Amino acid sequence: MPDTRLRPQIVTGVIVRAVVILFLSRRGSLNALEQTKPSRFWTRWLGQALPSADSIGRVCSLMDVDHVRALVHHVYSRLKRMKALEPPGHGLMLAVVDGHETTASRKRCCPGCCQRVLHTQQGDVVEYYHRYAVLRLVGGDLSLMLDAEPVRPGEDELAASRRLLERALEMYPRAFDVVAGDALYANTEWFRFITGQGKQALAVLKDNRPHLVEDARTLFEVLPASVDLDAGRVRLRYWDSDRFTSWPDLAPQVRVVRSLEIRTVRRQLDKQEEDIASDWMWVTTLTSSQASTRAVVNMGHERWSIENQGFNELVNRWHADHVYKHQPTALLVFFLFALLCLNVFMAFYRRNLKPAARHGVSMLHVAQLIAAELYSAIPDGPAWAPI
Ligand SMILES: [Zn+2]
Repeated sequence: MPDTRLRPQIVTGVIVRAVVILFLSRRGSLNALEQTKPSRFWTRWLGQALPSADSIGRVCSLMDVDHVRALVHHVYSRLKRMKALEPPGHGLMLAVVDGHETTASRKRCCPGCCQRVLHTQQGDVVEYYHRYAVLRLVGGDLSLMLDAEPVRPGEDELAASRRLLERALEMYPRAFDVVAGDALYANTEWFRFITGQGKQALAVLKDNRPHLVEDARTLFEVLPASVDLDAGRVRLRYWDSDRFTSWPDLAPQVRVVRSLEIRTVRRQLDKQEEDIASDWMWVTTLTSSQASTRAVVNMGHERWSIENQGFNELVNRWHADHVYKHQPTALLVFFLFALLCLNVFMAFYRRNLKPAARHGVSMLHVAQLIAAELYSAIPDGPAWAPI
């Protein structure tokens, strides 16, 4: 029997507007959104009633993913034109790439699910999961989540990240200068690919390149710190050399920067002071004329922003990992909408709200006001009282 329900191209505009509100009001599920259906807000916003949870999920599973990516790009372009996306003090725009697993299940799977075998006490169990390579653009005080690409069944994160960067280089050719990643990205093919596109690469240096790590540790033991700051209870020491020859597949000599940060804290239990050290090394194709030691350290630490202000925020505040519909396209579409709404919200919070309005008002409070708008337009009735 033919499917006579509305085709996605007819209703996409309505669904896009509905899903944007789903995330901006942080309802967390399509059923929770559906409970706001009697709100007069929807006829004002959509020009019609809110479609059912089932319709929203179905249309998202048929939606053109590039359409959603174009919306993300549109927000970026507007901010760029308005000069709202300025680089940090060192002048270089950074793109951070990282993997993020959105869902895992031992029972439910779809054609887009990756799978792994878990060794449990009850025997081996197959677990199905979805993982994305995600790109974040790091600016001075405003950063944007740019794009996401699914890791396909049977492939690794680097393969998905390469597709992600190839698309990003087409859509955002001048948006960033440097691409940073964790230790997984200290990879010869990856570094060659990035530099081949006219960009610079930076990655955490850990035991995945053991010879380079060993050489760096040995040299930095005897080399004096190039920058040595004592800022009260924080002591920062940096080492920097571009003479390392232990990654010959990439280049005759590569640059490694080490940062040792020692913070003195007072233990709550016995009030004794204790030094906590944070020791990091990065390998980069940036030359010292392109980026100072401190700039490399700053960019290295900014890599964490995709975890802290990106994934953590998306998962804990925006319900981005919720399975709104377990179907490959729908999962990606909802995740991209979460990125889009986070960008819009952050741009609004940082650029539209006056400092006086922001003072003493958390981002969560602003999000609650958006949700309150939905509920306040619901005619009185016990069946529709907000939970
Ligand atoms: Zn799946």
